[in-house]
Amino acid sequence: MSEEHLQFGTQALHAGYDREFVARASSTPIYQSAAFDMVSVERGDRLSSGEEQGFSYSRVANPTVDTLERRLAQLEGGIGAVATASGMAAISFALLAAAEGGGHIVSAAELYGASVDAMETFFPQFGIETTFVDDINDLAAVEWAIQPNTRAIFAETVANPSTVVTDIASLAKLAHRHGIPLIVDNTVPTPYLCRPIELGADVVVHSTTKGITGHGNALGGIVIDSGNFDWAAGKHPQFTQEELVVSDEEHGVWHSFASAFGKEAYIRRVRIKYLRTFGAVPSPFNAYLQLIGLETIVQRVRQQVQSATRIAQYLQHHPHVRQLNYSGIGTTGQTDLVHTMLPKGVGQVLSFTFDGTAEQMNRFINATTVFSYIPNIGDSKSLIVNPAKITHREVPRRLREVAGVSDNLIRLSIGLEDADDLIADLEQAFAVAFG
Ligand code: PLP
Repeated sequence: MSEEHLQFGTQALHAGYDREFVARASSTPIYQSAAFDMVSVERGDRLSSGEEQGFSYSRVANPTVDTLERRLAQLEGGIGAVATASGMAAISFALLAAAEGGGHIVSAAELYGASVDAMETFFPQFGIETTFVDDINDLAAVEWAIQPNTRAIFAETVANPSTVVTDIASLAKLAHRHGIPLIVDNTVPTPYLCRPIELGADVVVHSTTKGITGHGNALGGIVIDSGNFDWAAGKHPQFTQEELVVSDEEHGVWHSFASAFGKEAYIRRVRIKYLRTFGAVPSPFNAYLQLIGLETIVQRVRQQVQSATRIAQYLQHHPHVRQLNYSGIGTTGQTDLVHTMLPKGVGQVLSFTFDGTAEQMNRFINATTVFSYIPNIGDSKSLIVNPAKITHREVPRRLREVAGVSDNLIRLSIGLEDADDLIADLEQAFAVAFG
């Protein structure tokens, strides 16, 4: 079945799943098999070089995981995807595959903490440096940060936890003028609210742990390739160098990823080099849980956006809230951008600075009973956390403050409970904190 003409909500249930292949099962079967019969030495050779796509060993590809990859590639409008064991694996693979061999990255400073830490303290150990730009929508500052060896620009569509929106279309234009790909973490909005590839992004990554799975029951990540960036244009020599794994040594036919796979060079390299080497694959069972969660993405995210909007409106004028961060209610100076890029809303994450002492803030968090004190987002349950101590703990104070993560910042991820109960829970927690 060709699925491209189908609406998003229909694709979320059907895309990438070939029922003929699996006894017409309604639910994608869990292929709990480490390896697969390659049938003949000729086919084994084709599978191993990537000439034929299929299954031989689950560290490289697995049918359950493959359905998830095809479905998410379709939902984001990409030509292919590689699912990983977590969002951080996806981000690491996506950035390393672009910047490997001493490259440089220009990145937004407003990011999830572990992404900052990876680029700030860890990637330099592998010869990859990053320049963080305080305001990723300040295109002059981004352009100034670009160096001759810059191999990627990285940003979150909607930043966690500030909810600042990146102007993907403008950033992509700038990146392309310099022959650089734009890699976007689209975790917070999910493809239901925003499809960065349509705006010009070259690669999209997700922590599928969040809104894509939606039930907080499986870790996962994904790298999705638009197929639009020319990796053989000269800035990324890793794509034009000959590689034994994709060549036919016996007959002296040598290939690079670009010559072997053309438009798919990038995503094939992520699979054949990164997934295969680092091995951060999702289990078939986790892929199955993600597929089940994905079936209800439209209904979940729609309700969460509605509730998050109500809660943001409640917090906006609250006497114990110094500043509310939620780009979805037109108070941040990004109203036009939000209308253009995210007309259905910015997501279920919001944050606010607590107007009280550290002790009162601790009492507030401890007093919530419907919200759970959990370092995650995009769950069906509502979650509360103090990012400075938990999710952004490893980020140096200067970068934390640029990202709006002050010591008195509280992040909420709104779930599927009744919004009245969530507001009542916050109200009684404020009463306990200031009682
Ligand atoms: N990207 C964003 C925006 C996140 O919020 C997170 C986790 O909170 C990640 C990436 C990392 O994902 P994972 O925890 O699945 O590794």
